[in-house]
Formats: sequence, structure tokens, C-alpha cells
Amino acid sequence: MTADDVRREAAEIVKQTRDFLEAQQQLGVDFVPGAPEVAKQDRPQSERELLLSGTLNLGEIRQVLGECTRCKLHPHRTQIVFGVGHSQADLVFVGEAPGADEDAKGEPFVGRAGQLLTRMIEAMGLRREEVYICNVLKSRPPSNRTPESDEIASCEPFLIAQLKAIKPKLICALGGIAVSALLKTKTPLSKLRGRFHDYQGIPLLVTYHPAYLLRNPNEKKSAWQDLQLLQKEYIRLTGRPLR
Ligand code: SF4
Repeated sequence: MTADDVRREAAEIVKQTRDFLEAQQQLGVDFVPGAPEVAKQDRPQSERELLLSGTLNLGEIRQVLGECTRCKLHPHRTQIVFGVGHSQADLVFVGEAPGADEDAKGEPFVGRAGQLLTRMIEAMGLRREEVYICNVLKSRPPSNRTPESDEIASCEPFLIAQLKAIKPKLICALGGIAVSALLKTKTPLSKLRGRFHDYQGIPLLVTYHPAYLLRNPNEKKSAWQDLQLLQKEYIRLTGRPLR
């Protein structure tokens, strides 16, 4: 059996276990005879371990996510917005959560803020297809409200798994929610900008969320300074000149 077979089988076992337990729950079954508490406690833990193991590729992570009901956001979304771009991108952008346009299209950063992000990526000399773009949350919060900590905790293992699968050389965190989820800090974004931080051995740059830049165009100059730093480091780490 190849490593791919093992990964596929593990993802399938997790999916089947979750589907089975969810079906039992819907039928009003509170426990599984024979191993009641073990079944309840092991399900999220084994799934989390699998996601954090770094053995799944993006397709398998999406499969494990399924039609997710792990947090209270699921009734509010039209569809899951998983991520888009190159599966082995050297640079990953992480935002906050899908908005109305993203929820409708199933793709992150496609509304006005997304168009600005695309222009920012192009200004660096890259194309959108060359990077990977995703959010901390994969479902749209109602009325685009700020994500809550329990929602971030439920969805975060999927972001971690995405980053482990892609293994980028650089990460750019867009806005405070992405920064606090990735760096586990409450330090204001303005104090973290202008230098690289460490995310599991990967250099991480912090900058403003494009939606914030649309509301505060005076900060675009600061964001461009951040992108120039990112651009320089991208060239240094990949050895590839940018257009
Ligand atoms: S935000 Fe994440 S954890 Fe919550 S329902 Fe959506 S996909 Fe699931």
C-alpha cells in the first residue's frame, strides 16, 4: 500500500465515522453501545490529529471538511469557501472569512476587496494563479460580522492542514483575525507590520486586509511597503525574479 493509499484510507475512515455518528445523533442516539464516551471523545481528536499530521493533500482535506457543521456558522452559508490557487504555491495569503460575493461564488477574495488583493498580487509581479488564497473561516459569518473564537477554533485545523499540505516558503496574513489565528497574539496589527514573524518555521508577513484598505485608502501606502518586503523575500527564497 502506498503513502497515498494510506492517506486516502485515513480520510475515508474519518469521514465514515463522522457521517455515522452524525446520523446516530440525528436519530437521537446519545451514545454508541460498547464504547459510549470513547466514541464521542475520540472523534474530534482523531480528526484533528489527522489534519495536523501533515499527511493529507488539499483534495483530501476538502474531503474531510465535507459539508461541515462543526460550528454555528454552517446554516448561514450558501457554500463552503475552501481556497483557491496553486497547490504548491510558494506564497499563501490568509484572510478572515468569506463575504457575500465569496459565499455566492465559492471562491475567496472575489468581491471588491478580492479585486484589490488581485491588483496587490499583480503589483508584486505575480499572478493570482501562482499563489494560494484562503481564509481562517470557510463559511460566511452572518452580515460579515467578526468571527468568534469558538468558530475560529473549529475551523482552524483545516487552515493548518492547508498550510501543511502546500508547504509555502512565505505566508502573508491579511488583517487582525488571520494574524491572531496564525501567530496567537493579541498585539495590534499596526505593531506587527514591517517585519517577518515565524509561523512553524515559515516567514510570515502581516499586512492590512484589503477590505480595510478600501475603507482606509490612506493606508495603501503602508500596505505597498509591506508587499515590497514580501516581494524581496519571495525573490530571495525562491531564486526567481519577478516581472
Ligand atoms: S466556519 Fe469552518 S468549522 Fe464552521 S461550519 Fe464553516 S467550515 Fe465548518
